[in-house]
Amino acid sequence: MKTVALYWKKEKNQIRCQLCPHCCLLYEGQAGICKVRKNIAAEMVTLIYGEVTSIALDPIEKKPLRRFYPGSLILSIGTNGCNLSCKFCQNWEISQNADSVRKKITADQLIAMALETKSIGLAYTYNEPFIWYEFVLKTAKKAKDAGLKNVMVTNGFVNEEPLRKLLPFIDAMNIDIKSFKESFYRDICHGTLEPVKKTIKTVYGKCHLELTNLIIPSKNDTDEELCEMAEWVASISTEIPFHISRYFPGHDMNIPLTPLSTLEKAKRIFKKRLKYVYLGNI
Ligand code: SF4
Ligand code: SF4
Repeated sequence: MKTVALYWKKEKNQIRCQLCPHCCLLYEGQAGICKVRKNIAAEMVTLIYGEVTSIALDPIEKKPLRRFYPGSLILSIGTNGCNLSCKFCQNWEISQNADSVRKKITADQLIAMALETKSIGLAYTYNEPFIWYEFVLKTAKKAKDAGLKNVMVTNGFVNEEPLRKLLPFIDAMNIDIKSFKESFYRDICHGTLEPVKKTIKTVYGKCHLELTNLIIPSKNDTDEELCEMAEWVASISTEIPFHISRYFPGHDMNIPLTPLSTLEKAKRIFKKRLKYVYLGNI
């Protein structure tokens, strides 16, 4: 059975998606940049509703979230697709593919599993959860009613209206801020920075928020860029926990891994401006 998506409109003989800033304009039979939302018979259809590629019980610190129920476990799920295509993506096999082996699952089954496994709730992660919007919205509402927490690990590349509709059901988010340069977003991730900054500002104060920056040698590791990012985050709040993550070569990027000295330098820069700074992936 096909599931008609939310946030789209008809434009002459095409349909326009309004879920993320790409605003894909699609002819009949065409899928969007995320690969998993498609114009079928003049309606936007989500191809991944209630279908998972990955499911695991993870420590909350692995999301990463360090100041949200530390020491707890969270049932983590993902599916196919992403609205960005980062050259360094570690999960590219699911994020850049619409056709991995997927298992059908319902919100009720996930909630029962979370309760059985003593998980604090559900984490929507591994690929980009916003492009799984309809299933995440339904599941998050039900999980909240069952007393569970909902966590999103996201690139933050989403339009404001769908974000605001989902936020009341989300307890915590980790948003990836990949660089403070538009050229990095354009050339390496095929997206834009400004919508991500807007998402961070919108989310702050509505649920628990932590941020992550993956540092890639020669791409986003100058003192100038790191200072600019740290100052911008501090201008929102110096209390936002910030994760500096080590890059490893993979997918479409073979630059050698980030030296520890670069990570330590970044930590010093962020520590001058923010209270909680963590090194990850080391
Ligand atoms: S969610 Fe997918 S189809 Fe919609 S605008 Fe973004 S990339 Fe395009
Ligand atoms: S946003 Fe995340 S999941 Fe999507 S391509 Fe980039 S690293 Fe991969």
